[in-house]
Amino acid sequence: MPKRYDLHTHTVHSDGTTQPEDNVSLASEIGLAGLALTDHDTVSGWTQMRDACARHGLAFIPGIELSTERDGRSVHLLGYWVDPTDTALVVECDRLRNERSRRADEICELLASLGVGVEVARVRELAGDAPIGRPHIASAMIEAGHVADVQSAFDDYLADGGPAYVPKYAIDPVRGLRLLADAGGATVLAHPGVSEDGGGPVTPALLDELADAGLSGVEVDHPAHEPEVAARWRALAESHGLLITGASDFHGDRKDLHLGERTTTAATLEQLQGLASNKMHDKISVSPTAS
Ligand code: AMP
Ligand code: FE
Ligand code: FE
Ligand code: ZN
Repeated sequence: MPKRYDLHTHTVHSDGTTQPEDNVSLASEIGLAGLALTDHDTVSGWTQMRDACARHGLAFIPGIELSTERDGRSVHLLGYWVDPTDTALVVECDRLRNERSRRADEICELLASLGVGVEVARVRELAGDAPIGRPHIASAMIEAGHVADVQSAFDDYLADGGPAYVPKYAIDPVRGLRLLADAGGATVLAHPGVSEDGGGPVTPALLDELADAGLSGVEVDHPAHEPEVAARWRALAESHGLLITGASDFHGDRKDLHLGERTTTAATLEQLQGLASNKMHDKISVSPTAS
């Protein structure tokens, strides 16, 4: 069996519902050779996942997902093997976290004015050490009996342009890319064909810019990409000579995605690691012949 890796998974350290250990157990059960942890704006789950991977004999790929924005479009960037002590990256992640916290207060105030009372303290509790996102607010709304499920929380209140919508502080994609690359990471444009927060998919013109700025790869194989969307991005990525990755974007129960439903080959992972200038992390043996 050729080795396969899931290069995009979330945990309770951001907006997933599982612990890093759970993701590792799932990966082990389905026979993956390794997996990445790519929580939003934080590296706080790395140690937990690294230890769990060591126990299961799986490769751990340390990552982070930054949400950036250009012209109202949300653009997600994955950075692998970044130096977690890089000052510029740490400062920006702290800022993103603080701005999210402030935004949660504003959303809760708007909700209150709409007759939907949600304790912001409870939202913080639900988020734990994760940067606070709308999914945490949705959970608190369900708990308080205001809505039946996450989708109604978004459809009726939280979605972009909805009555309780507050835009979030975001940096430009090229700046985000340089932050990750300057912190020594290999960089991948996440699910470019998905308009996760509205605003439409990534444009080919922006891919040109990101490629010029040092992008390493494109997450072509993603569960939310229809086959024709994946084919289009595969061709675009190839035209720039970029690596092509696959991953599930697993979020536990919060999204209907299954860990390992899309994966990356050992050969691609090895090339990706070769593009990370930070060589401080443990070397991962991903040689396809070494299995
Ligand atoms: P935030 O980072 O706080 O803006 O929240 C973004 C997350 O909310 C995304 O990753 C999605 O999981 C979720 N989300 C955004 N828009 C919607 C929507 N219209 N319906 C369901 N979930 C959404
Ligand atoms: Fe997410
Ligand atoms: Fe994303
Ligand atoms: Zn993600």
